[in-house]
Amino acid sequence: MKPSSIVEFVRDTYQTNDFIPLHAPTFNGNEKAYVMETIDSTFVSSVGKFVDDFEHKMEAFTGTAKAVATVNGTAALHAALYMAGVERGDLVVTQALTFVATCNALYHMGAEPIFVDVSPVSLGLCPKALEHYLEEHAEITAQGCVHKGRKQRIKAVVPMHTFGHPVELDELLAVCHKWQLALVEDAAESLGSFYKGKHTGTLGEFGAVSFNGNKIITTGGGGMVLCRDLEDGKRTKHVTTTAKVPHPFEFYHDEAGFNYRMPNLNAALGCAQMEVLESYLQQKRVLAARYQDFFAGGDFAFVTEPSYAQSNYWLNAVICPDSDMRDALLAGTNEAGVMTRPIWQLMHRLPMFADAPRGDLTQSEYIEAHLVNLPSTPVLLAG
Ligand SMILES: *Cc1c(COP(=O)(O)O)cnc(C)c1O
Repeated sequence: MKPSSIVEFVRDTYQTNDFIPLHAPTFNGNEKAYVMETIDSTFVSSVGKFVDDFEHKMEAFTGTAKAVATVNGTAALHAALYMAGVERGDLVVTQALTFVATCNALYHMGAEPIFVDVSPVSLGLCPKALEHYLEEHAEITAQGCVHKGRKQRIKAVVPMHTFGHPVELDELLAVCHKWQLALVEDAAESLGSFYKGKHTGTLGEFGAVSFNGNKIITTGGGGMVLCRDLEDGKRTKHVTTTAKVPHPFEFYHDEAGFNYRMPNLNAALGCAQMEVLESYLQQKRVLAARYQDFFAGGDFAFVTEPSYAQSNYWLNAVICPDSDMRDALLAGTNEAGVMTRPIWQLMHRLPMFADAPRGDLTQSEYIEAHLVNLPSTPVLLAG
């Protein structure tokens, strides 16, 4: 298949000759009204009703015990890892095939990543590869799970639901249980994605969602920690809001907290976006089905949701038959004003994570060399 026929298909889908971005936000609901309300009331910052409303809407939508709004997804991940007990000097298992924020969050806690391969089914952390790595390199001691070579504690596992496609959570949870590891889901890309009927980010102890401008819904910048346990959730709220002990006027803080609270201004946008999330999700399924039909039977393999899951299809993706065709597709579409992108360079290729321990990364390397993301803004398409 030639890049020009893909360009033609995307232009036909979006019905425009203008530049087509990878993923653009849309504000056709109550966004303006709610944001103006915060300005008119002067409650744009850390006090105001939209933060609580947004958190409650998210709890209802995901079924999590407690949702805690934060300034961005990276901060949500940082707080989730802190709450999961990750400490300076610990190791945390994650995927090399992820956005850099997953690793930055643990790096700034003084922890280090271990990179394990992804599954071809989900493009996220592979339970078999995880188990295999631990069997070879870890042992259970009085301190918990310890890396035999590094003599460091392995505290947590952070799978990432790549492009919204849920990882194999039951299998990962079983491995984590066996090896005494906390499971923290990087659900930054998977708002609206369900694993066997349960919302992603709610099966592990903690999950982190992002509302950056390119995500399925946006608050400008923003994130949320999903907490499986209500008490953990209350403590997450406490530590992300300076750990101040409630008092009418005294300032007393009982631990070194974070100032990760989402401003009311951003939460107003979030409340309005939650009202349209279901319709975005429907439109995204229509769009993905259209891509799937288009690529069916050809030599480019469109990435579909795993059989056990319902994906939000945040970013549509296609696996090219070889890396030359990947390069030609990227060049041909971008030159024609249809934005496409390669997947992130693997984390162990970045200077700050080059020395991180890692297992075999064959699948990750294959996907890195062959995958291209396609325009994915939800638009009104006839089903
Ligand atoms: C977007 C994203 C994040 C971070 O979110 P920000 O809100 O941009 O900080 C983390 N992990 C992954 C995989 C992401 O795609």
